[in-house]
Amino acid sequence: MPRPARPVHSATVTGSSRISRDMVRVTLACDSLPYADLEHTDHYVKLLFPPEGASYSWPFDPAQVREELPREEWPVTRTYTLRSWDAGAQTVDIDFVSHGDSGLAGPWADAARPGDGIGFMGPGGAWHPEGEHVVFAGDEAAAPAIFAGIEALPQDVTAEAWVEVSDADAHLPAPSHPGTTIHWVERDGATHGTELVRAVVAAGVPSGETRWFIHGVAEMIRDLRRHLFVDSGVPKSDVSISGYWRLGMVEDEWQASKREFTEEIETDEAQAAANR
Ligand SMILES: Cc1cc2nc3c(=O)[nH]c(=O)nc-3n(C[C@H](O)[C@H](O)[C@H](O)COP(=O)(O)OP(=O)(O)OC[C@H]3O[C@@H](n4cnc5c(N)ncnc54)[C@H](O)[C@@H]3O)c2cc1C
Repeated sequence: MPRPARPVHSATVTGSSRISRDMVRVTLACDSLPYADLEHTDHYVKLLFPPEGASYSWPFDPAQVREELPREEWPVTRTYTLRSWDAGAQTVDIDFVSHGDSGLAGPWADAARPGDGIGFMGPGGAWHPEGEHVVFAGDEAAAPAIFAGIEALPQDVTAEAWVEVSDADAHLPAPSHPGTTIHWVERDGATHGTELVRAVVAAGVPSGETRWFIHGVAEMIRDLRRHLFVDSGVPKSDVSISGYWRLGMVEDEWQASKREFTEEIETDEAQAAANR
């Protein structure tokens, strides 16, 4: 039986602003989102883009496009966190890493102007902060979910947040919370994720009960999984960890290879644990 089509939301850009050198915030008006059901801090949507050179543009019905056009013209998706939402105004803010001319979503956000339309599916999401201490870590792509998580922390919870940015001029506007320290990790030309791994490993594993939220570039995820699960014995149930994107891959390629990537990591982790 064919899967029922996922609902597609239609949204209109109402504003955009550069919130840091490398990040653009786009505000979208959308009256069909289930705002009352949004209860997590990592809610994300799948923005729909016609592939480069496609013969159509938004608005379109993805199911109809798939029925009528060849596969290479089918819409592609790009995944983005809902940084915040205003149920009364029926708007959401999405923060896009501005990573140059390559790709679809980054350049779209760089050029977004009020009145532009876009469609998306979702929202998904499953995590919100629990427990008495939280460690957040991620690069810019995960910063919106990290900051939404910090904003949701109760006053008496403590947290450490490790946020990787390209350099000292690219820090992001971050929420303040009395028990939370934000550590900016500057790449200064290093490969994405490597400085973040170094900083998180150097900080060690807190002695008390800790929840972890770690997302961003895939290679960093592989190294921090090894650090937490193999070298430090942190229970997997305490950790939300996944690759949000991968160096040199467009999102379609990354999503198509993610399962294999994760299975390889899990095999390596099991072998490393057995050899101890
Ligand atoms: C659950 C989830 C939530 C996410 N939330 C956000 C979010 O809130 N904000 C956000 O900016 N991203 C977020 N991402 C990551 C985002 O989906 C990817 O970065 C995506 O690849 C961007 O699409 P694009 O069309 O701009 O580039 P693509 O066409 O996918 O890629 C083009 C090229 O750009 C590179 N590239 C992709 N992303 C980056 C990056 N961040 N920095 C440097 N180079 C990059 C790719 O490796 C590739 O070489 C999220 C991902 C997931 C899975």
